[in-house]
Amino acid sequence: MALGKDYADQDCSLARALELVGERWTLLIIRDAFYGVRRYSDFITHLGVPRAVLAERLQTLTATGVLDKQPCPEGSRREEYVLTEMGRRLWPAIHALSRWASANLSTDGPTKLYVHATCGTRLDMVGVCPECGGDPISPEDIEMRPVPGARPNKRDDSITRELERPRRLLEPLTVSV
Ligand SMILES: [Zn+2]
Repeated sequence: MALGKDYADQDCSLARALELVGERWTLLIIRDAFYGVRRYSDFITHLGVPRAVLAERLQTLTATGVLDKQPCPEGSRREEYVLTEMGRRLWPAIHALSRWASANLSTDGPTKLYVHATCGTRLDMVGVCPECGGDPISPEDIEMRPVPGARPNKRDDSITRELERPRRLLEPLTVSV
């Protein structure tokens, strides 16, 4: 069944969220931004997304305030796309969807774990550290760790290889030259 162009008849917060993040590739772009991907060329390298689609998605995410377009720190003419505060608040949704898929859709388990960086404990389904308790851990205090012995990644590009090492979320990742 073909989907309509939008959810205009749906007066619901979820429909409004899907207008933005429900487009193909959008959540993966946002996930990559949490992984520290910031540059157009790095998104292309890691996702293999068609250039026109990526440009369109980045434009929408910038216009709606999820990403902020900034000059690269080293002063070149390149630009970076950095998650805003509003964009960072999408982390619980991305984490929950990822955990839900691992538990319900995947037959061979996750390839990456999200742990509380200060104590090394894996976050629970809602993003709380079972060891420390309290509120869900914010992305800057989360470390992503590859699962030892997980199936080999289907992609073999420079970003994928970089993400096979443990790293803190949001820490800028730059592989492109
Ligand atoms: Zn902890």
